[in-house]
Amino acid sequence: MLKREKKLEREIAERRIRKLLELAEKTKLENYELAKRYVELARKIAMKYRVKIPKELRTFCRKCHYPYRHDRVRVRVRKRRVIVTCLNCGYVRRFPISKRSKSRFLLDRKVEELK
Ligand SMILES: [Zn+2]
Repeated sequence: MLKREKKLEREIAERRIRKLLELAEKTKLENYELAKRYVELARKIAMKYRVKIPKELRTFCRKCHYPYRHDRVRVRVRKRRVIVTCLNCGYVRRFPISKRSKSRFLLDRKVEELK
């Protein structure tokens, strides 16, 4: 049997994850169910090939897997934390806001996108 090229497999997996999550973003306003399906496929690929989903692409609910959409999500800032509540299932995520880290930049962008 041929030796598996894990590095290559993972590269391809990552590309597919990116593509699927892009598609989810594009379709989430017209077809929310389909967008959710894209997210689920991306997660399955990530698990199978054990790659991480890049932070900037994690714009979906961890519990119900629906992508965050302005009318289905609530974003609040409280006590130096951003609180994102999924209105589909009620799952709450909290991101700390730290002064130095670059995650703050990502967070600002995320909040901007969700508006
Ligand atoms: Zn949810």
